[in-house]
Amino acid sequence: MVSVHVLCGGYVDLDRSVFFSDEGPGTRVTAPVPCFLVVHPRGVVLFDTGIHRSALTDPVGRLGERRARLFRLRSRPGDEVVSQLALLGLGPGDVRYVVNSHLHFDHCGGNEFFLRSTFLVQRPEMEAARAAMAGATGRYSPSPIDFDHPLDYQMVDGEHDIFGDGQLVLVPTYGHTPGHQSLAVRRGGGAELVLTADACYTRENMDRGVLPGVVWDAGEMAHSLARLRAMRDRGGATVIYGHDTAQWEELRRAPDALA
Ligand SMILES: [Zn+2]
Repeated sequence: MVSVHVLCGGYVDLDRSVFFSDEGPGTRVTAPVPCFLVVHPRGVVLFDTGIHRSALTDPVGRLGERRARLFRLRSRPGDEVVSQLALLGLGPGDVRYVVNSHLHFDHCGGNEFFLRSTFLVQRPEMEAARAAMAGATGRYSPSPIDFDHPLDYQMVDGEHDIFGDGQLVLVPTYGHTPGHQSLAVRRGGGAELVLTADACYTRENMDRGVLPGVVWDAGEMAHSLARLRAMRDRGGATVIYGHDTAQWEELRRAPDALA
């Protein structure tokens, strides 16, 4: 049996126009940064590693000036992945696979703590991140301080069934970044759960079909959003959105199981 636990990887205060490209600036929201721990009989899988703990004490040093201005940290001590794992009696050494949905700072900030895990990252994501580090221009701004460590990165091409039994499937949802991915959890006989990460920031993005301000390729992102919406509306999947404050308030969080 597979169980899913919701972990708090931090909180950020940002302008709503970052989430909704059809809105002007001026309204601030505090958004959660979720990570997810999935316990499968053959190993523990962590989906995203949140914001690095040092961003709280040294935001400019960790995030850089531009990001520190855009995103004000609202995390409390303990709102980071290693402390959250401890709520479940686990440490980084217990995690077999780490999945990075993508390589923005709020999704790979804790990578450096998982020295014994295998990381699953879509190939175009890592290639674009490395190219950006080498000076390529473009709208994609990965976070080298967070992912550029000697870790066991395994490249994934498109859909990938982590344990080969159909229960944990990586779904390519490119567009927000060049190689963004989501995770579908299909438990025996149960309903499907989809962790969208930033392929869909909030329920409102999906319901209104509105893309965020942060987009690498709008056409691809719209296609990915439509795919996720079909999984929800036609497939009956439960969707956990990337940074949805209202949904977050309702979620059962660690140490409890979501389901
Ligand atoms: Zn994010």
